Amino acid sequence: MRFSRKKFGLRTLWFLCALCASAMNCVALDREAFSITNYDLNLQIEPEQHRLGARGKITLRNDTSTPQKVAVLQISSSLDWRSIRVGDKAVQFVRQPLTSDMDHTGSLSEAIVTLPQDVAPHGTIDLDIAYEGVIVVDATRLTRVGTPEQMAANADWDHISPEFSALRGVGYVAWYPIATEVANLSEEESLFEILSRWKAREAGSHMKLSFHSPDLTGEPMTSVMLCSGRGIPGVTREGTAKFPWAECSFDDLGRSAPSFAIGNYAVVDRPSVTVYHLPARAVAAEAYAAAAETVAPLIADWFGVPREKARTADLPDPDAAPFESGALLLTPLSSAAPSTAGLAAAHQLTHASFFSPRTWINEGLAHFAQVLYLEQQRGRQAALEYLAAHRSALSAAESSATPPRSEDEANHSLIHTANEELSRSKAMCVWWMLRDMLGDVALKKAVAAYKPEQDKEPSYMPLLISAQTQRDLEWFFDDWVYRDHGLPDFKVESAFAHKTMTNSYLLTVTIDNLGTAGAEVPVTIRMNGGEITRRVEIRARSKGTIRIETPGLPQEIRINDGSVPESDLTNNTFKVERPQG
Ligand SMILES: [Zn+2]
Repeated sequence: MRFSRKKFGLRTLWFLCALCASAMNCVALDREAFSITNYDLNLQIEPEQHRLGARGKITLRNDTSTPQKVAVLQISSSLDWRSIRVGDKAVQFVRQPLTSDMDHTGSLSEAIVTLPQDVAPHGTIDLDIAYEGVIVVDATRLTRVGTPEQMAANADWDHISPEFSALRGVGYVAWYPIATEVANLSEEESLFEILSRWKAREAGSHMKLSFHSPDLTGEPMTSVMLCSGRGIPGVTREGTAKFPWAECSFDDLGRSAPSFAIGNYAVVDRPSVTVYHLPARAVAAEAYAAAAETVAPLIADWFGVPREKARTADLPDPDAAPFESGALLLTPLSSAAPSTAGLAAAHQLTHASFFSPRTWINEGLAHFAQVLYLEQQRGRQAALEYLAAHRSALSAAESSATPPRSEDEANHSLIHTANEELSRSKAMCVWWMLRDMLGDVALKKAVAAYKPEQDKEPSYMPLLISAQTQRDLEWFFDDWVYRDHGLPDFKVESAFAHKTMTNSYLLTVTIDNLGTAGAEVPVTIRMNGGEITRRVEIRARSKGTIRIETPGLPQEIRINDGSVPESDLTNNTFKVERPQG
């Protein structure tokens, strides 16, 4: 239908609006009414055509409290729905493009399915589905919000090609069906929020995948198919032709997003990790495996023996953003720098040993493990410098000049925040502070007592930690975990030194915490002939006084060695005046 300018008058507009309104009513859909509790998919990958074809069965569950007759299924906009059936009957469905940043193309192919009958609350229905299409590099969702092209391509690298194929799942490429509200990258935190909601809805959902790829005769090496989750790869030979395949299964889609890679990989296998690398990167792969071997005892000591073996797979683009799904890490193995490899390995091995459905625990501990690794290799100062580098992001997000508004206190807390950057940096600092406060032995015991299946309340982990100490930590968790109380800001209010009878000095220091969160902070006294450090607990907007006997004349007081995130570090040193008399 075409409208000439003349005919496109007021009446047409009215008519269009009426149409829009009725269409709006039709599509005033609850896109999240159903979750998908089971996937059983056969996937045919044709690298030469950049093509993916899928066929299989999915189970939908009505998560609402009312009967539902309409279900929404979404796949990447570069894929097309071929058929949707219930039993042996084709069901009616309407296809529509949906602008959403859940997919790298910035759009989804949505099928609005009219089910043959109402599905009762908590009831399920099985659908037989088929879809196919091509998946090439596409960073539309990033470039349209102004991300420079190269940067966008390094972030959204998923594609299928004869040289290499890798697809990440939900949040990157919808190569399996999902059902979510629209995500919008130009709205802060929208994508992360919708993703977390999807993961929560998919907790306990299963997926079984069977991948096949056609004849790759002529290739010098047979491609290896890798997937996150539990899987077995293989190659079938028929005469001279080779057919790589893989069977993968996922027990809980809330834990990891299904992803796969197909490449001409060679393998470096060590007890702690298997590294799949592109032929030219053998040296870097060996270096990564060696770093993992070095860090493995530290990680096992803190987080227990691995639940699954860590696997690392190479990405061809040297600037591609790394991606992790459980114990599988996809990262360019282009640099063999041992310190970078060690940091990445510490993080990856922590995920292989320990899991929590809560980001502040799961990612917080994996980042904390990186700091532990640095401390072990290069000492506490190197660890503190690493913390400091991450803290700048935290200070920017948590300027104490504007203390959090009360409604934000809970929303922005570590247990609820939708800001991933904040939750990772802040959680890393929280774990480091807890370790300084409790000591290694107590904190390791708390971590060892953690069982993800028992983590039903936000207080579960804080209670495990509190059980390991006589100290009251309620205030700490309240300021840093349950609520967002911003950051502390320490300042020496006064310091007086008196000479004692025994020719030493008694220094009395009063420290003011001008900030909105409390912490236990180290205070270092520099004196003739050395320094002494004491730790002081100072609650939000409170003062604390310590008395320290020093053998030499105290000269300078420095609060906070960098282990406590603080909003203002410029007021942390204090010159001690010479004692009178
Ligand atoms: Zn991680």
